[in-house]
Amino acid sequence: MKSAYSVFIIILLSGCNTTQTVISKETIVKHDLVNIQEIDPTLLVDLKYSTNDNFMEMDVYGNLEICYMRRLPAEMLLKAHNILKEKYPKLRLLIFDGLRPRSIQWILWNTLTDVPESERSQFVANPKSGSIHNFGAAVDLTVATHDGKPIDMGTHYDYFGELAFPRLEDSLLVVGALTQDQVSNRHILRTVMTQAGFSPITTEWWHFDAFPYKVTKQKFSIIE
Ligand SMILES: [Zn+2]
Repeated sequence: MKSAYSVFIIILLSGCNTTQTVISKETIVKHDLVNIQEIDPTLLVDLKYSTNDNFMEMDVYGNLEICYMRRLPAEMLLKAHNILKEKYPKLRLLIFDGLRPRSIQWILWNTLTDVPESERSQFVANPKSGSIHNFGAAVDLTVATHDGKPIDMGTHYDYFGELAFPRLEDSLLVVGALTQDQVSNRHILRTVMTQAGFSPITTEWWHFDAFPYKVTKQKFSIIE
């Protein structure tokens, strides 16, 4: 993952002030953004891009420590959490990412220098059109015990490879690359999210969209 070029970018970014990604009050009001933990204080949040524990090994969110989403997707997330807690009282949803401003999307995109641009959108949405995260209508998450320990999904968050592909789970199970427990754990997450109206994608077990891209674009604008 670390070509000389990406190391250069990291040095370049650490030289700049990357700790300015706070969402302004004006933006929050204008786009009707909500702090998901205000809607549901029992949601667990660990914004991975606000730590060094991500594929870039770099805190690109700086002062942004709060997970925001548009109001309707946030209410859908509350619904998913209630479904989970009702069925599994000891489990919680653990959120890795929600609203991701487009300026951050460019950093993610430019970090994947080892992946040709034509294949890069398999892993990171092209910032030109924008990820549904950039609209505040997608969420990355897992399931954890109520004290915050993630359950085993077979890969870590942002694992770039087929082992993370929901569409390959059946065959990965057959060849023993994933265990039955890992696949069942993914099903728990997918079931509660789809029951609340979210759609999964085929390449990342942790990612869910509140609406398809076209609908998202009609309803909302990108947060830069
Ligand atoms: Zn995502």
